[in-house]
Amino acid sequence: MTHGPEMDSETGMELPTLGRTLRLFGRAFLLRCPNCGHGPVLEHWMKLRLKCGTCGLRLQRGEHDTVMGFAFILFTLIGLFSYAVLVVTLLVTRATPWDLLENGLPLLVLVELFAFFPFAKLLWLAFDLTLRPVTASELEWHRSATRAYETERDAIR
Ligand SMILES: [Zn+2]
Repeated sequence: MTHGPEMDSETGMELPTLGRTLRLFGRAFLLRCPNCGHGPVLEHWMKLRLKCGTCGLRLQRGEHDTVMGFAFILFTLIGLFSYAVLVVTLLVTRATPWDLLENGLPLLVLVELFAFFPFAKLLWLAFDLTLRPVTASELEWHRSATRAYETERDAIR
């Protein structure tokens, strides 16, 4: 008896390897397509292209719920980075510059919101791809799609 193809590879969760995870996230940190490592993937700083310019993967995978994950990653990045700045400030200053922190931290958050925007989007895609690797047939579906989402009713332009 021979082994057939895995039956659950289409939609099933896959246990990611460390190397693959690092590769996907590394590409996202370089603002490249997590799937193929190329691009272009950015329409402009605040907006992803519909599809990766190289592999054709739709950068929101044709789904709506990417917004939630993206927001989660964005606020996590902002939180961690702001906290790091706060800790460093407390460590390097003898008298804590409360005025500076009070005015500076909200400003910093705004700057971070802007600065981390495309990273958060691509990191979420990388996270998604880590757990649900894209299959050949899914990639084909992405390449032939002309809309961001599956149904026309849901299309947001
Ligand atoms: Zn790609």
